[in-house]
Amino acid sequence: MNNISFADLNLAPEILRALTESGYTIPTPIQAQAIPLVLEGCDLMAGAQTGTGKTAAFALPMLQKLLPFASSSPSPARHAVRALILVPTRELAIQVEASVKAYAKHSHLRSLVVFGGVDIKTQTPQLRTGVEILVATPGRLLDHIEQKTVQLNQVQMLVLDEADRMLDMGFMPDLKRILALLPKQRQNLMFSATFSTEIKRLSAEFLVNPKLIEVARSNATAENVTQKVYLVDHTEKHALLAQLLRGSDAKQALVFTKTKLTASRIARQLQREGFSADAIHGDKSQLERMQALDAFKNGKISVLIATDVAARGLDIDQLPVVINYEIPSAAEDYVHRIGRTGRAGASGIAISLVAPEEEKYLVEIEKLIKCQIQRAAPLPKAEPAARPVERAPRAEHHTELRIRAPHTSTTKRPVHDAWFNKPYEPSASTRVNEPVVHVSKPNSQIPALFMRRKITPTDGND
Ligand code: AMP
Repeated sequence: MNNISFADLNLAPEILRALTESGYTIPTPIQAQAIPLVLEGCDLMAGAQTGTGKTAAFALPMLQKLLPFASSSPSPARHAVRALILVPTRELAIQVEASVKAYAKHSHLRSLVVFGGVDIKTQTPQLRTGVEILVATPGRLLDHIEQKTVQLNQVQMLVLDEADRMLDMGFMPDLKRILALLPKQRQNLMFSATFSTEIKRLSAEFLVNPKLIEVARSNATAENVTQKVYLVDHTEKHALLAQLLRGSDAKQALVFTKTKLTASRIARQLQREGFSADAIHGDKSQLERMQALDAFKNGKISVLIATDVAARGLDIDQLPVVINYEIPSAAEDYVHRIGRTGRAGASGIAISLVAPEEEKYLVEIEKLIKCQIQRAAPLPKAEPAARPVERAPRAEHHTELRIRAPHTSTTKRPVHDAWFNKPYEPSASTRVNEPVVHVSKPNSQIPALFMRRKITPTDGND
């Protein structure tokens, strides 16, 4: 199955050309399985973690099926909405549409993304010009339907992406309203990282004889993500976080918190301590969220602090480290969070700071992922930041330590990027049927990746 190439999948030359230009050489397992089934016209219930290439798994056969409708005519009547992709968050919407656009770039098929939090009027003129593929968050799509700025009576394909999160976020009533407005005769594809009872119920409700495909066992965590837990008192978490970030050899880290307040507080505190950090959460405007995300994506900021909802669907190339400042009380969120790293076959590290009162959640997480997460040895206490101390000599491979003050950050991508823009490469470690915890070197008091460096005044102070 995995030896097939994109050319074996009956995709048109213009799609294959776009894939080559995107650096894709071979289909990921979910793509190899889903593309033939979607081309056959089947409904699909696909279980795939983020980072498995699931967007192309539905977008490529969708484009292939819509190619006969591609038209160079400027007339809106020649560009009816034929495929609707519903996603839970704005960030995911933007990413999915960007992928669709990239894959469709050599065809005349048009795509557009609509999401809330921005002035609806800015989206209307583009909708009026006509698009074949519409990516939308449910609430904003309903606004457009109410304002009669979109017609859905030609929709022949529907994708529910990250369906489990849509349910978690309470989109069920909106989904039902939208589904009722679509033509009955259509192909439905549902993608979900987990197969909860609610997801099974939803699939029974709106999929017709679906083919079931699963590339990762439900709720399995990516095998190529090394997971670690630090047992730490709540009051000591910030110091440990700062210490981990300072000692990290990695260029960027995504830090999760449970609440918006904590996310903002940590971002402010880290900024005061000289880190280039920012927060994204639901209380920030869409513009602020997009700016922070862009700054993170292009390397201007090194630490992004996010709540679960804000981080959902983020696809950041080669994100090496995810840190759970607080572990989630819903065990499935843990799987989603650590799915931000170790994407498309790359390796990643997921660190959780667990206070005694959170250990009950850790038990649930370990039950869900069916393995015990390695407990890391406590780090030696860092020197107090205010005390001037000698700067530790920089190890050769530390020359790219990016977790630094905002004014020292750079838009240039760091150089030790062996796997930075590397396309997906399936490896033995992408077999995610049996989640494995990778154990760091025995007897090393300090974990391999996080080496302690002394804090200099410029590191630690305003
Ligand atoms: P997704 O799971 O759709 O969010 O995709 C995760 C990442 O893998 C994205 O950055 C894609 O561009 C990338 N990707 C998807 N399919 C392939 C492929 N066949 N080869 C290389 N990269 C891919």
